[in-house]
This record gives sequence, structure tokens and C-alpha cells, in this order.
Amino acid sequence: MSDSNTKPATPHVTNFIRNIVDEDLAKGAYAAQTWGGRPGPAKVHAGAPADPAKIRTRFPPEPNGYLHFGHAKSICLNFGLALDYNGACHMRFDDTNPEKEEQEYVDSILAAVHWLGFDWKSFGDDNLYYASDYFDFMYEAAEYLITACHAYVDQQSANEMRANRGTLTEAGKNSMWRGRPAAESLKLFREMRDGMHADGAMVLRAKIDMASPNINLRDPAIYRIKKAAHHRSGEKWCIYPMYTYAHPVEDALERITHSICTLEFEDQRPFYDWLLDKLAEGGLLARPLPKQIEFARLNLAYVVLSKRKLIQLVEEKHVDGWDDPRMPTLVGARRRGYTPEGFRLFADRIGVAKADSWIDMGVLEDCMREDLNERAARRIAVLDPVKLVIDNYPDGREEECFAPNHPQKSDLGRRAVPFSKELWIEREDFTETPAKGYFRLFPGNKVRLRYGFVVECTGCEKNHDKVIAVHCIYDPETKSGTPGADKVKVKGNIHWVSAKHAYSAEVRLYDRLFGRPHPGAGGRDFLADLNPASRKAITARLEPALKGAQPEERFQFERHGYFVADRVDSKPGAPVFNRTVTLRDSWGKASP
Ligand code: ATP
Ligand code: MG
Repeated sequence: MSDSNTKPATPHVTNFIRNIVDEDLAKGAYAAQTWGGRPGPAKVHAGAPADPAKIRTRFPPEPNGYLHFGHAKSICLNFGLALDYNGACHMRFDDTNPEKEEQEYVDSILAAVHWLGFDWKSFGDDNLYYASDYFDFMYEAAEYLITACHAYVDQQSANEMRANRGTLTEAGKNSMWRGRPAAESLKLFREMRDGMHADGAMVLRAKIDMASPNINLRDPAIYRIKKAAHHRSGEKWCIYPMYTYAHPVEDALERITHSICTLEFEDQRPFYDWLLDKLAEGGLLARPLPKQIEFARLNLAYVVLSKRKLIQLVEEKHVDGWDDPRMPTLVGARRRGYTPEGFRLFADRIGVAKADSWIDMGVLEDCMREDLNERAARRIAVLDPVKLVIDNYPDGREEECFAPNHPQKSDLGRRAVPFSKELWIEREDFTETPAKGYFRLFPGNKVRLRYGFVVECTGCEKNHDKVIAVHCIYDPETKSGTPGADKVKVKGNIHWVSAKHAYSAEVRLYDRLFGRPHPGAGGRDFLADLNPASRKAITARLEPALKGAQPEERFQFERHGYFVADRVDSKPGAPVFNRTVTLRDSWGKASP
């Protein structure tokens, strides 16, 4: 199915971020922006041609885990804006932290963004960037801040620094090192760089205001000593920039116009602006400078969207890896049968807001249903089989019935399904003692075998209390699609698979991974909220055409839901299937 992946349609829903972009473009905020063809300081962009991109956004994951549904929201937003406004969206690895970053994560992140249907190439540039490539400039900028008296090396201990930071109601206290001459800070900073001091012995801090009501402006640390190797720069550095210093600089070097991040960074915005302004003042960065815009992160009920917790689920083997179909990762979703188009529809539908809220998992599932309803071919599967024997059907006879591949799309054609004397039907489609309103098989009742004949139930065989076969007789004049087939009116219509021709296959039925809407809320361990029955594997009887399903091919199993041939465990000619989503929302109800 991946080759039928369509390009993102232009989303039409407006939101506050689009309004900001519209206003910026209307007032020509970036009319003077130039682009030197690559990220860089002022000198790279000075005198360069006008930026061909109307806006620049970026998706900046830290390569320390697999992408999850929350990232999908951010990807659709950032890449979607660039597509809509004839801009560029940069793919940037925010890899300034030397620990925990691995190539495996880099590769999976790139694959996931492509899978969602987006690409970072635009206007002839590749736009795949690594923040660690900016370490030299970040260092140079830090030296500039020191010489301009906007930064100093502080030798307080971590505890002293914490104590002197003050509180929300109390101003902080100046460090005794705050007033040291720039030359002294510069010398120490170079010693830090040269590995002459131990981790934690000193830090470089911005010199702003220890009495600011915004604690983030009370001389935030911008560089620390960390004698650790980096996945790209290796042993070159033993000092690393803090995220709050690195991120604005990365944005400015890349000439990002709108730096969109989640709400928890709102209090950082004044520092973001302060820093870029100081560096532009010093001639290091080109104006116009990027601006930060915050939006509400995605919170999904019944789902955990924190990398730390997802790593824990994988490492402690509560799930079968990152791509376990129950995981809220994009690799898990893909294996589960979720579609890129469904994610993009979801991102559009939930929009972006300025306030945090919880989205029901049913909203995401509805988007997948809507998309799959359009694209998935219909097939027949009996998940909980019991035999139906047609006593008056000749032994050994076989014939074909014809079933449409899609009820609304006749151009998708129809296929033959074999019919014979013994069929598999769903156990729940027979009862000896029908409740009011039950129209399926019970002794004396008639139903239509979908795409086949009308049959009348005559009884059943049992082993102790368990029904092992249902018996019926058929009316040869009622075959679907033949003249007069509908002369016998029935209320029930059930699906079936010829027993002799059926393909027996493993089908995995997934339920929510967590049994509570807010896993771990109220101080509970989130693992205590795992749903012990989140996966069930059954052996189902499928129509023979399904034997040829290709990995990742998606189907609707009539009356059951949407299913996908598992891309990992399917063998050629022997696919196994994962249930993507049931036909109707079941989130409001108790787990089956
Ligand atoms: P987590 O909190 O799960 O560890 P993160 O924010 O640390 O995620 P990053 O790799 O830093 O993960 O995120 C990359 C981008 O994805 C950031 O711009 C971030 O704002 C965005 N993002 C992460 N989680 C969500 C979410 N739940 N909803 C929307 N955007 C998100
Ligand atoms: Mg992060």
C-alpha cells in the first residue's frame, strides 16, 4: 500500500498559527530575507539572493527515540505550513546533547517523516540539518557574548546556583563571579573547551537579570562541561551548549521564520528573543530573526506520549519493540495498518490550539476509518468459526459467488468466492434461543448467505453444550445476482467462507494498551494501568483470495473492521493479519 501513498492535500482549516503567518506575509516581514543556500551566520546570507522560500519552518526532533503520534501532529503542522505557503520545512536533528543519541533513531525518524508523506527538499536544497554541525558557531557566539559582557563564567557549585536562583516570589542573588572581567571569563571558557576543568566545575551563564520575574532570565546557563563523546562530532568537544541556547541559534542560522514549539517553552521565549537580538546586534546573525510560536501538544486519552515512558515499555519488554502494533509510535501505527493520510486528516481535524486539552483516541480512529473506508478492498473473514452444513446441497459440488471489492466503487470490480456444502460462519450468527430482534440463524429461520443463497436453519449438533455444527437447507432459486433471487425476503444477512477453500491464518486483535484514560494519573505507576488483554491472537478462516495479500495490504473484513497484512511476520503466500480498527468506535464502552 505504501506505493499508493498520496501526496498531502492542502489543508483548508485555518488556525491561529496560519493567522500569524498571513499577517507576517501581508506586512512583508520577510521581504528582505536573503538565503545563502545553506544555514549560516550573517556573513553567509549577507548579499545573497532573496530567500525563495516564503516562510521557513522546521521539525527538530532529538534523535533519542522513535517518533510518536504527538510528533505526527508537529510534522503535519510544520511541513503542512511550508507546503501551503510555498515555503521550506527543514528536517533538523537537535543533537546537541551528547548522550543517548543513536543512528538507529536518526534513520527511523527520517523514514517516519517520509512515510507520513513529507519531504525536506525544496528550492534545490536538501534541508537535512544536524544541530551538532553548528557547534563551531555556537562556541564563537558564546565568546562574543563574553566579550560584549553578556555572559560570564560562574564557578558556584550546582547547589549554590540553585539556592541563589530565588523563587517565583523572591528575586535571585547575583553570583560572586558575575562581575568578573570579560577577559577572565574568556580565559576560563577557553580552558573549559580545552578540557582543563572537571564536569560541573563551572558553567557559562548569560548575564541578564537575577531579579527578573521570569526565572528563565535569571542568568541561564548556556554552556556546560561534559566530557562525553558525541555521535557525530566524536571527541572534538567536551563542552556542550544548553538546549535553550542552542535552539534559537539553530533557528537563526537556518533562517527559520516561524519556530513552532509546544507550550512548555512559552516562558523561554523572552530568552530566545534576548539571545538572538544580542547576536544580531553584534553582527553575527542576520535579521529578520526567527520568532517562536507555541501551540498545545497532543495529549491522547488512553495513550502515553512521552519518549521516556515509551523507552521504558520497550526496554522492560511490556511490548514487543518499538513497532509493536499497540505502541503509539509511527512505526507501530504503520504495522497496525494506520495510514499516513489518516494521520494528516487527524492533524487537520484537531487543529492547533493555545491551550492543552485531551483528545479522545476515537478521533484518531475515526480518521483512520474514514480513510480506510475509501481505500480498503472488502474481503470476507470468519473470526470465530463454526461449521454450517447445507444438507440439501450436493456432495462434492462447488460453484462461484461474486462479491464486489468495494460497495461504492464498482470500478474496483468483483471477485469470485467459492461456495460448497460446508461453510464456516461466525459462532454468534447462530443461536438456539433467539432474543427479540435476533434475525440471524436459529431453527426455523431463514437468512441470506451474503452474495450466495437463502438458507433455512434446521438445527445443530452439539458436543456437551458446545455447538459443533449448524444445519440448514438452501433454496437454489435464490442465488444473489440471478433473476428472482430476492423473491424470498429475509431480515438476516450473514457472511461465510467455504470450509474446503478457506485460508486458515493468524489474526491479531488489538485493544488499547492502557486500561485507563490517563495512564499513571494520581501518582500511580503508569505500568499499573497497562491493559493485560491488549492483544489476542486467533486462527481465523479467510476467503482464499486473502492468501495472496501482500505485506501492508489493507482490507475491510466485512462486518468486522479494517485489517492489514503484517509487514514483519507475513510470509509469501502466508500472510498474517493485524486488526487496525473495528468498524465502529468502541472506546466509550468497556473492553471486550
Ligand atoms: P517527548 O516529550 O515525548 O520526549 P520531545 O518533545 O522531547 O518529546 P523532541 O524530539 O524534542 O521530543 O520533539 C520534536 C518535536 O516534536 C518538537 O518540536 C516538539 O515540540 C514536537 N512534539 C513532541 N511531542 C509532541 C506532542 N505530544 N504534540 C505535539 N508536538 C510534539
Ligand atoms: Mg525534547
